[in-house]
Amino acid sequence: MKDYTNFIAIIGAGISGLALGIILQKKQIPCVIFEKSQKIGEHGAGISISQNGLKVLKNLDLHNEFNLQSRQPHNAIFFSSNKKIKKISANVTTSTRRTLFKSLLDKYHNLDGEIHFGNEVVDIEIENQTITFKDGKSISVKHIAACDGIKSSCQEIVSSKFNEPKYSGYYVWRTIFPSKQTNIHFHLGSNFHVVTYPVDKKRVSLVASIKSRNKQSESWKQEGSIQNLLSEIPQSITDNYPSIHNNYGVYKWGIFLRPNVKTLFDKNISYLGDAAHPIVPFLGQGACLALEDAFILGNLLDKHKNDLSLAQIKYKKLRIKRIRSIYKKSLNQGKLNHFSNPFFVFLRNLLMKYTNIISIRTRSVWSYDVTEEKDL
Ligand SMILES: Cc1cc2nc3c(=O)[nH]c(=O)nc-3n(C[C@H](O)[C@H](O)[C@H](O)COP(=O)(O)OP(=O)(O)OC[C@H]3O[C@@H](n4cnc5c(N)ncnc54)[C@H](O)[C@@H]3O)c2cc1C
Repeated sequence: MKDYTNFIAIIGAGISGLALGIILQKKQIPCVIFEKSQKIGEHGAGISISQNGLKVLKNLDLHNEFNLQSRQPHNAIFFSSNKKIKKISANVTTSTRRTLFKSLLDKYHNLDGEIHFGNEVVDIEIENQTITFKDGKSISVKHIAACDGIKSSCQEIVSSKFNEPKYSGYYVWRTIFPSKQTNIHFHLGSNFHVVTYPVDKKRVSLVASIKSRNKQSESWKQEGSIQNLLSEIPQSITDNYPSIHNNYGVYKWGIFLRPNVKTLFDKNISYLGDAAHPIVPFLGQGACLALEDAFILGNLLDKHKNDLSLAQIKYKKLRIKRIRSIYKKSLNQGKLNHFSNPFFVFLRNLLMKYTNIISIRTRSVWSYDVTEEKDL
């Protein structure tokens, strides 16, 4: 392998890794991405990107291309026991994860970014910044950006404070199937909720979140059957989606999180996205936070290229408060969505119907513009 001693090594070509790669390439900072998979997968996964994430995509010149291949639903409609309780205007772009990955990857390639698929990092010697891959090869680099997702073997290898992610008490079913639905639908039920939204002109993503004490630890992501999914959601909801029965691929994900995130870096390694702070997906913020992390760290690595430890300190200072706040808000949203006590359900529905509580809860999360950060 070539000499990478002056390179930032990005581990993982997910949302944070590719976004960081694009920013560094634009700033002509030598970087290289190593990804363990051979190619991008889909796993029945849709994604919704709110305004805070879209601002980063815009800054990366990806906004138009991503929007063109995605949908901008006009409304989000909330149902409780299949009765409509509220309609609000939606201000998000909905798509597939695959579309987002592909837009990021194409951009990185267009900037002549270097990426190596099929290269899994299995060891790191942090004192001399040496990375070892599964095939036994080793390289030395200038700095490591761990963008290797929720299980983060990078953090597990390096950090003395590593906390194994914990089962959140929720698992989700995900599938994508043909439908002409144009808006976002939230079906709130007792100990479950279902969200559906268009991912392109012909298909809809369904995410069914189930509250369950049974730890889903055997597999974080497994293929399931449509019958299992249908057995866990009331028929009155699935009747709205007749084509779901044709089984276009169903996946079951245990939702894991890391409570009390204290740090976003160790010696010569910085953690981004799910590798640093996995959260529950009930405000649709995991990918958006990953994009924000990449924007902040990328700009700081440029600004303080001669003092990367200062870049790391500033990265933590700019990110940790927001990450903790969204972590908490996402958990609270899960509680609200899954109320089973009829009195609380009644109160929640009343508030949703007659106040702007939904918009108020999301405003501070969505209105943040990381590209306007003064300290960058
Ligand atoms: C059910 C569900 C719904 C969600 N919906 C939304 C949503 O609507 N909006 C939103 O903003 N977020 C959503 N999220 C969260 C979002 O998907 C994640 O937060 C986001 O993908 C995190 O990006 P990342 O770059 O940190 O990690 P990832 O995108 O997971 O990328 C990690 C990459 O690292 C690679 N990798 C792992 N280990 C190694 C290794 N040792 N060596 C090399 N490569 C490695 C992996 O193969 C992968 O490509 C959802 C999550 C779930 C579970």
